[in-house]
Amino acid sequence: MSEADCIFCKIGRGEIDAEVVHDEDDVLAFKDINNKAPVHLLVIPRQHVANLEEIGELPDGVVKRLFEVSSAVAEKFDVTEGGYTVRVNNGRDAGQEVFHLHLHVMGGRKLGMP
Ligand code: 5GP
Ligand code: ZN
Repeated sequence: MSEADCIFCKIGRGEIDAEVVHDEDDVLAFKDINNKAPVHLLVIPRQHVANLEEIGELPDGVVKRLFEVSSAVAEKFDVTEGGYTVRVNNGRDAGQEVFHLHLHVMGGRKLGMP
């Protein structure tokens, strides 16, 4: 999967529409198109990395920012008090569909382990 074809890179470049909820230089957050919880957001680095095996390619500050932005959007969507899940589906057995690293931020209902 090249950056040219990657759906989340396209969202990052504004070539595909998404409901963006947080936008900054290195990190973007938008609503999941097929939400599996009342609040279901995706937080991505703008730089294309496929999965956690490639996370070393991201500057340390961007890795930290992914989590800070996850917390910020959880706050924005009012799920901080009730709690929320931050999840990475990494690879085949986890059902990863989009091979651009992303954090799912889900809340607004009780969320257990799978
Ligand atoms: P994963 O790769 O972690 O299993 O899931 C990818 C997630 O991206 C899914 O929850 C799916 O609904 C979401 N998704 C796939 N394509 C698009 C899209 O074009 N726009 C948005 N906003 N979400 C998408
Ligand atoms: Zn990408």
